[in-house]
Amino acid sequence: MELDSLQALYVEKLRDLYSAEQQILKAMPKIRKAVTNDELMEAFDTHVAQTESQVQRLERIFEDLGVPPKGKHCKGMEGLIAEANELLGEDAEDDVLDAGIIASAQAVEHYEIAGYGTARTYSELLGFDDHTELLQQTLNEEEETDRILTEIAMTSVNLEAMDEEGEEGDEAVSRGSGAGRSGAKSAGKKAAAKKKR
Ligand code: FE
Ligand code: FE
Repeated sequence: MELDSLQALYVEKLRDLYSAEQQILKAMPKIRKAVTNDELMEAFDTHVAQTESQVQRLERIFEDLGVPPKGKHCKGMEGLIAEANELLGEDAEDDVLDAGIIASAQAVEHYEIAGYGTARTYSELLGFDDHTELLQQTLNEEEETDRILTEIAMTSVNLEAMDEEGEEGDEAVSRGSGAGRSGAKSAGKKAAAKKKR
C-alpha cells in the first residue's frame, strides 16, 4: 500500500495492531500454562478476554473504513513473543520464571500502548470520532493491565523470586529474612520446589 496520506498510515497502524493482537491470542495459552502465581494467572485470564474484545473493536473500525484487516505482519510483536518463548525454554525456578513472564508481558503491553496511542491520535486528527472512542477503550485496558502487572510484581512475584536466590546461598540468612516477608504460602511452595531438586 502506498503511504500517500495520514489515513493510509492510520490503516497500516491498525493492521499492525490487528496482527499483534492475533499473535498475542495465539501465544497466550502456552505462557499462561507456565505461570504458577494465582494472581498472575487471573490477570492473564482477564486480559485474554479483553484482548478478544480488542480484536472485535479493530474489526469494527476496518468495517467502517471499508478495508480488510489483514495484510500486515507485526514483526515487533513476533520478536517480543519469540523472546517470551525463549524464556519458557529456560531451566528456571517457578517464582523466577513468573517474574520473567511479567517482564515479557509488560514489554508486550508497552508495545501495544505505543501503537494504540498513535492510532488513537491519528483517528482523532482524521475526525473518526467513533474510532477514537474504541481505540481509547483499548488503550485504557492496556494501561490498566500494565499497572496490575507492576503491582503483582512489586507486591509478590519479584519478592518471591528474590527468596529463591536466598535459598541458593546462606541458609541461615534465607530463614531469617525470607520467611517473615513471604509468608506461609511461599514457604510451602519453596519446600515443594526443594523436593523437586
Ligand atoms: Fe491488546
Ligand atoms: Fe494487551
